[in-house]
Amino acid sequence: MISKENIIKRFISYVTIDTESDPASNTTPSTKKQWNLANKLAEELKAIGMHDVTIDDNAYIMATLPSNVDHDVPTIGFISHFDTSPDFTGANVNPQIIENYDGQDIVLNASENIILSPDYFDDLLLYVGQTLITTDGTTLLGADDKAGICEIISAMEYLINHPEIKHGKIRVGFTPDEEIGRGAHKFNVEKFDADWAYTMDGSQIGELEYENFNAASAVVKVKGKIVHPGYAKGKMINSMYIAQEFINSLPRLETPEHTHGYQGFFHLHNIKGDVEETVLEYIIRDHDKGHFEARKEVMQKLTNELNSQYSREIITTEIKDQYYNMKEKIEPVMHIVDIVEKAMIQLGIEPLIKAIRGGTDGSQLSYMGLPCPNIFAGGHNFHGRYEYVPVESMIKATEVICKIAELTASEK
Ligand SMILES: [Zn+2]
Repeated sequence: MISKENIIKRFISYVTIDTESDPASNTTPSTKKQWNLANKLAEELKAIGMHDVTIDDNAYIMATLPSNVDHDVPTIGFISHFDTSPDFTGANVNPQIIENYDGQDIVLNASENIILSPDYFDDLLLYVGQTLITTDGTTLLGADDKAGICEIISAMEYLINHPEIKHGKIRVGFTPDEEIGRGAHKFNVEKFDADWAYTMDGSQIGELEYENFNAASAVVKVKGKIVHPGYAKGKMINSMYIAQEFINSLPRLETPEHTHGYQGFFHLHNIKGDVEETVLEYIIRDHDKGHFEARKEVMQKLTNELNSQYSREIITTEIKDQYYNMKEKIEPVMHIVDIVEKAMIQLGIEPLIKAIRGGTDGSQLSYMGLPCPNIFAGGHNFHGRYEYVPVESMIKATEVICKIAELTASEK
């Protein structure tokens, strides 16, 4: 059995170290304070008996659990990130432990009247009777993704202490700066040298993900012409009105607030404008590669149409691909997903396979040559004060890691 006390103690030792990342920084890690946890994790990996523990100049940590069988088994990896989101402060996290949750409101902070309520967050009701770890209402928790790190280290420790469980070589990787989209950037896939890996970075117990968005950004620049309003007839071109035409020509219901599941969207997330120039910033998202390409074409076509309507190059649209759906890289090796499903079912967990409406480090790693689906780490309400994690989900995730290792060694 995985010790509940150890999981809680280990998790709290991580979340009480501030590791917020910073998108404005150009260094890796983006914040110096991430080293505080990174160095501790490297020491801890050594202390539990992991081999080849390395931490590079960018704070990427890798370690090996050697195989304990004499036949050939694929090398698998488990990956998490130790930074927390800059969306909300991660300084002075003061975790609250709620034993035997009764399904009622949880007062996170009485003086500021901050309440974690199942009326609003109904997934809380999945965990009645369990032990929850919450914030004190003033910070995020950092279960994203310190729960993942806690589970991976706990699983490695368990396997080391239980040599009767047979497994192949296992690689562990912890990265900085995932929350600012750079977790995979300096990940040395060659050095990691695994046949495939899993990020332990999902949410609810059972989550298993191998599909994510194809993603692009688009910057639309509209050039106007400023003239004194009193003398403007036939001369002024107001870029804001043309930008408005552009916005209104895209399907209004294909936006984040009107879509779910496999539905893609155009998302206008910033406008800056005056008469002379208006700049629209969009992101384009779609799981389907064909639809994704079509969305980009729609924007380009609209640009061309408005340009010919105004008989000049009044609009320029610059579209840049950001990341792609990992499904393309996972489907040829579907056994790496099947094995997780099997592990979950053997442990009495119902697999929840769904498409991520976003990207993961795993999608980038999959395109870098390391197929990498995503597995639940157990937390909910990431990136804010309502973040919480049931300890029982962390224990289950730890068991899933051990079971995947076992199944990989025993299956053809
Ligand atoms: Zn995460």
